[in-house]
Amino acid sequence: MNCSSINAVYIHIPFCKKICHYCDFCKVYYQDSLAMKYLMALEKEIKDRYQGDVIKTLYIGGGTPSVLSKKELIKLFSLLKLFKLDEEYEFTMEANIESLDEAKIKLMKENGVNRVSIGIETISKKHQQELGRVGSKEKVRKKIALLKKYGIENINVDMMYGFCNQTEEELKEDLDFFLSLDVPHLSLYSLMIEDNTILKINHYKRLQEDMDASFYYLIEKKLKKEGYLHYEISNYAKKGYQSKHNLVYWNNKEYYGFGASSASYIYPKRFCNTKSVKNYINGKREVDIEILTKEDVIFYQIMLNLRKKEGINKKEFYQLYHKKLEDVISYKELVEKKVLQESKTHLSLSEGYTYVLNEVLVELFQ
Ligand code: SF4
Repeated sequence: MNCSSINAVYIHIPFCKKICHYCDFCKVYYQDSLAMKYLMALEKEIKDRYQGDVIKTLYIGGGTPSVLSKKELIKLFSLLKLFKLDEEYEFTMEANIESLDEAKIKLMKENGVNRVSIGIETISKKHQQELGRVGSKEKVRKKIALLKKYGIENINVDMMYGFCNQTEEELKEDLDFFLSLDVPHLSLYSLMIEDNTILKINHYKRLQEDMDASFYYLIEKKLKKEGYLHYEISNYAKKGYQSKHNLVYWNNKEYYGFGASSASYIYPKRFCNTKSVKNYINGKREVDIEILTKEDVIFYQIMLNLRKKEGINKKEFYQLYHKKLEDVISYKELVEKKVLQESKTHLSLSEGYTYVLNEVLVELFQ
């Protein structure tokens, strides 16, 4: 069972200067009057809940953490001194191109940020407009070069596809541009139309399913050719640049989440803070708690591990749950059908089946 020490921390900064049309994350418009109050509430939560574990991965996400002013960033970074950090910690911060500047990058570097994740999504003007986003190729290149100048080479860029009537040509143009940035990590997500988003209200239609699947495999082929490892359904990395923090989730390990809407997994509980920034500032934090049974933990282990290219480590599974994988799920038929592949040590999705993980999970847990 998972009840080891907790080595990962996620911190949510819910401020954005512009709201994207597809976004259902917890976010509010940036206001300096609110930001400092929020950081004070964050400090209180960390002091109340953090138990002194050694932290190996820190991830500041949002929202857009880089919209904070220099003064607010200094306050945010001062909170990190509350944690006991491992010597070799990975410290990721999300940012957007518009709010990143040289002074902020310098500050990030001085405070130990060693990985930056940037949402760019698409460089097509037409699709940027649909998504409510901006960004020119020149600006993106300039900011990435600036990060590299300050020694932050471990960069992830988020790209999206699956827009209404997106053509293969447009997809290839985006891919070529993202590849030209020469960053060691790329996350590629298919657009989802979530409730309570501008796209949903406007009845926006995403790309048809069969085209979306063909784009998924086109991306996989192209990125593999460029030397990226497809190590998780939506994530590609050059060797040694896999996200250690996100691997904590996919390995079903425990983690702390601080800030509005942040999720924590501290066995036997998975819980989520309030999504209301106002309630969070007023100290009303926890809303949604799930107490896990052993079966729930096993379900999460299988579901999350199968997202990874390497799949489920059978020996580790046995050590954790004292059960053989085949006694928990009947997967042999799917191996015969070549949907899953089994080696001596692992069970994973076969080449060409990563797109249909959800269908595979339904079969496994029927
Ligand atoms: S920047 Fe990110 S969090 Fe902010 S509105 Fe856009 S998608 Fe949502």
